[in-house]
Amino acid sequence: MTSEAPTKPIRRTFFVADLKCYMCGSVAGSIESEQSLTAAKPVASPVLLRQPGRAQSVQVLNWRTLRCDRCGGPLFLDEVDIVTRRYEEYNWLDERPRRGRPPKRLIEERRRERELLESQAA
Ligand SMILES: [Zn+2]
Repeated sequence: MTSEAPTKPIRRTFFVADLKCYMCGSVAGSIESEQSLTAAKPVASPVLLRQPGRAQSVQVLNWRTLRCDRCGGPLFLDEVDIVTRRYEEYNWLDERPRRGRPPKRLIEERRRERELLESQAA
């Protein structure tokens, strides 16, 4: 029975926030984590840091140690958001031939099927 259960999309919750400077108010980047960013914890969990002008995000062990690029001021979390992303277990390879024109192999199969039906009808 379990094998017939539909595959559920995987949901992952991310906590997203802007890192803003206390001193000059500029945004140093945004961070993202699957752990709560605001919960007080003895050990800080690593987060992903996205900085403006950089395509790649970097992992930061403790964002609290980061400082503002412009003035060196301390940073705080601004606009903490919770984002849920869905990851469907989806076989893109299966779906691909159905988009656009059917593959030649399929056209050939259908033609043979039709010919067979026609010969049977005759
Ligand atoms: Zn600053």
